Amino acid sequence: MLKSEYLQRVYTQVVTRDPDQKEFHQAVLEVLESLDMIVEQHPEYEQKGIIETFVEPERMICFRVPWIDDEGKVHVNRGYRIQFSSAIGPYKGGLRFHPTVNLSILKFLGFEQILKNSLTGLPMGGAKGGSDFDPKGKSDGEVMRFCQSFMTELNRHIGQFVDVPAGDIGVGAREIGYLFGQYRRIRGSYDAGVLTGKGLEFGGSLVRTEATGYGLCYLTEEMLKCMRNDSFQGKTVVISGSGNVAIFACQKATQLGGKVVAMSDSNGYIHDPNGIDLDVVKDIKLGHRGRIKEYAERVPGSTYTEGFRNIWNVPCDIALPCATQNEIDGEIAKIIVKNGAMAVAEGANMPCRPEAIHVFQEAGLLFAPAKAANAGGVATSGLEMSQNSMRYSWTFEEVDAKLKDIMVNIFHNIYNAAEECGHSGDLVVGANIAGFKKVADVMLAQGLI
Ligand code: GLU
Repeated sequence: MLKSEYLQRVYTQVVTRDPDQKEFHQAVLEVLESLDMIVEQHPEYEQKGIIETFVEPERMICFRVPWIDDEGKVHVNRGYRIQFSSAIGPYKGGLRFHPTVNLSILKFLGFEQILKNSLTGLPMGGAKGGSDFDPKGKSDGEVMRFCQSFMTELNRHIGQFVDVPAGDIGVGAREIGYLFGQYRRIRGSYDAGVLTGKGLEFGGSLVRTEATGYGLCYLTEEMLKCMRNDSFQGKTVVISGSGNVAIFACQKATQLGGKVVAMSDSNGYIHDPNGIDLDVVKDIKLGHRGRIKEYAERVPGSTYTEGFRNIWNVPCDIALPCATQNEIDGEIAKIIVKNGAMAVAEGANMPCRPEAIHVFQEAGLLFAPAKAANAGGVATSGLEMSQNSMRYSWTFEEVDAKLKDIMVNIFHNIYNAAEECGHSGDLVVGANIAGFKKVADVMLAQGLI
């Protein structure tokens, strides 16, 4: 329950306005609960209507996306772009292509993105977009025609100084390539900085592919060092998911001395007590978009189990949920605690339900929330924009060093913010307050109300 009458009023309005948007309510409530601790010291937030403004997107674009499959049949999907906040920079955030995409999911993701982007220290506002299109099982030609149709409408709403989309679930290098190609054709100019996550040959940045997973491990390593005088060295790690975030989290956790023993996809999970052979996972997932089940057929000593949530029965020291939102509820969290974990860091966006976070924190586990822990992806997108503006490319080592610096800074920034408001060690509160304060100060300075 919110203590502040002002915040309670804002939250009630959010729920009353869009009663069905459960994921959005969840994301807003978590942030408001943290702001409850500082709102009294900042009467200007209420006087200037900052928080009711903050929870309402600046603009929501919704459009139809017709496309033709390989048999010549017409399909119509729905496309969206939620331009949530441009207070500190052009709108920035990914596109998600998945059948579960709807306004609630995209508003929650766009809202989180504002705070995440603020934490990176780079000048990027918050946005999210996508479609209920399901790329699974579609041919290359079908994905291309879908992306072209999507961009035919989206192009008028974006630009390097306006809104810069990137990838998310279901949108990787292939989709960004098709989207960029269509943008360039329609606009007749080479605006490389209009999208991030591009191929290296046309303005993409080194490390962007690895960035979310690497960044997650850099922040986790810093958290372990500063809060437990410990590290990944010798730790057993479980990573849910097997997409871009999970794969490169696995690579970095292993490089830092951890042993990753389980990964999953939406059907089930693999357990390899000898440590996951990442080349096999990459070959299955990136090579031919296969199912994780294949791993157990190829690697002796490993097993496959149906049901992706069961991955959390595998004991670990460090849990890195990198699949999707709300994959860990209170019951699963209790299993993770019972099995002796010491730390949880969110690689996906909002993978832990509020009850789960509560269980982890009550049990004294370290917990790093997504808006800090997975900010490495968008931070490196910010570095890609910088390189596009300079018409220059940094080396892998240069980008990687900048990414590491950003993640270490994020950790200290959120740790200190928690400490300052008397909630030492609560990185959820720290991330929400540090991310919000910067945006709120800019809203006050710009007189956006
Ligand atoms: N989709 C990613 C995220 O959730 C990256 C967004 C971007 O690079 O703009 O942060």
